[in-house]
Amino acid sequence: MARAPAFDKPRVELHVHLDGAIKPETILYFAKKRGITLPADTAIELQQIIGMDEPQSLPEFLTKFEYYMPVIAGSREAIKRIAYEFVEMKAKEGVVYVEVRYSPHLLANAEVEPIPWKQAEGDVTPDEVVNLVNQGLQQGEKAFRTKARSILCCMRHQPNWSPEVVELCKKYWQQTVVGIDLAGDETIEGSSSFPGHLEAYKEAVKSGIHRTVHAGEVGSAEIVREAVDVLKTERVGHGYHTLEDKTLYDRLQKENMHFEVCPWSSYLTGAWKPETEHPAIRFKNDKVNYSLNSDDPLIFKSTLDTDYRMTKEDMGFTEEEFKRLNINAARSCFLPENEKEDLLNQLYRAYRMPPPPATAGDFC
Ligand SMILES: [Zn+2]
Repeated sequence: MARAPAFDKPRVELHVHLDGAIKPETILYFAKKRGITLPADTAIELQQIIGMDEPQSLPEFLTKFEYYMPVIAGSREAIKRIAYEFVEMKAKEGVVYVEVRYSPHLLANAEVEPIPWKQAEGDVTPDEVVNLVNQGLQQGEKAFRTKARSILCCMRHQPNWSPEVVELCKKYWQQTVVGIDLAGDETIEGSSSFPGHLEAYKEAVKSGIHRTVHAGEVGSAEIVREAVDVLKTERVGHGYHTLEDKTLYDRLQKENMHFEVCPWSSYLTGAWKPETEHPAIRFKNDKVNYSLNSDDPLIFKSTLDTDYRMTKEDMGFTEEEFKRLNINAARSCFLPENEKEDLLNQLYRAYRMPPPPATAGDFC
């Protein structure tokens, strides 16, 4: 019998990667169909190879993607299907609203330089990838009734892709796309200021595209400061190392910055060292604006509940804190204001909480 969830009420998830949330069965299916050899024949074997049980280094973590991304990238059918199945997966986890992120370029095999995953050149462009993911998410939303929106990722090591990423955000705005992200290796020196990323984030600000940035996961507090001051991010992906700079931490608390916390991920990637207090505990105690997220559940062999269970059992998180952090996630999501309001009301009803009284500002 499946274990009861650590939190059995509606949840909001803001930080999860589409290419890190694929069913192993789907990878096997498309490998067979496309004649690509995998190092495993069954879903269980594949999960053993791709998945992690113990902390591993970043290069080891990144090799996981090399096994299966060539199976999905460049296939219209596969791209659409992983988006559709993603919504199904989240619906089963009790997620009522999710923002899923991915790099359109890493799933393409045409009009992308260099072509990723050693693929032969094909005819699936980054633009078409976004269109396919949108279709999959929209069909999934209809079928499973979990609202799904998307965030398009720039990659730290490929600033040449970033200007197109923001253009795709503009082109597909609200056709599931609600924001831009910067992912990849944040320790690449000076990468927050690479002209391609700067240009993309500047354009995002100008066009009203919402912004998040992976920062302070393994990188220093300085990377977080750059994300805020240089890239004008509205949320911080992970952000654990912010705690090393008291001035910055105090300032971001005052500014009500949202931190997308991924507890189980932080253990397996070594972003958090178990001999230290987890940053989530500090965030909880300081009543910071943060959410709990699964990041790459395929690789971490997890579901969103793994993160809730870890914080509940190992860090003393209560039902009240889970409610508070989900409300904060809804408040910090990238939906338009009216849809955000609907989402918040949905949570208040499910949590049996009265909505907060309207402030004078709401009537202005
Ligand atoms: Zn991430």
